[in-house]
Amino acid sequence: MFTMQVIPQVNQITDRYTNFFLIVEDHLTLIDTGLRGSIRGLVHFIRSLGRSPEEINLIILTHNHMDHFGGLAELRKLTRAEVAAPKNDFVIDDSPVPYPAGNCIRKLLQVSALSHLRRRFVLESKDVDILLEGGEIFPILGGLQVIPTPGHTAGSISLYASRKKLLIVGDALKKKQGMLRLPLITLTSDIQQAVSSIRRMSELDVDIILFGHGRPVTENARAGLLRLSERVKV
Ligand SMILES: [Zn+2]
Repeated sequence: MFTMQVIPQVNQITDRYTNFFLIVEDHLTLIDTGLRGSIRGLVHFIRSLGRSPEEINLIILTHNHMDHFGGLAELRKLTRAEVAAPKNDFVIDDSPVPYPAGNCIRKLLQVSALSHLRRRFVLESKDVDILLEGGEIFPILGGLQVIPTPGHTAGSISLYASRKKLLIVGDALKKKQGMLRLPLITLTSDIQQAVSSIRRMSELDVDIILFGHGRPVTENARAGLLRLSERVKV
């Protein structure tokens, strides 16, 4: 596991090529939780800041994929934090999981003998305190707004701190060889929706983008968003 401070108060934590984010203010806020088994490292990091995991009072999940919520069960034992996650990623409990139709996880969970695995791959709405619809603004970083950016999953959200010109995108967007790109098609539910979401992101005044995987863009991110939006135009 390694950590980097992106800007003061905002830390990226990387464990097994998956990022999650700790925002350090009067309270602590966590964006995503990494894979199962990530929390020991997180606790160590929080303590190194002279803070304690009980101070986490909000956990926001960008989408309902196991590499983003996997640490939640362990965190529940350490904090009473409220959990917020996008409403459209929670379907009634027996309906299809939020993985693409051709994806092996979705097929695996259709085998009834393996249904006990479901909780490893999908969070259920009863695990969440606040179901996000988009437009909500949390009092974090001077105002952290929920932007609906569906496509990768039906509910995927990004989080926008306008005062910091910072956007946390989960897996709605990725970066490869220094260029912004659409999320991986094989892991994306609706690529047309993902394209529209890129357009929505490109309308924001953004310098910094933080991804679910890989290193951040730390300057002039909007130019890259506009280029991508132009490239994927349909
Ligand atoms: Zn994902």
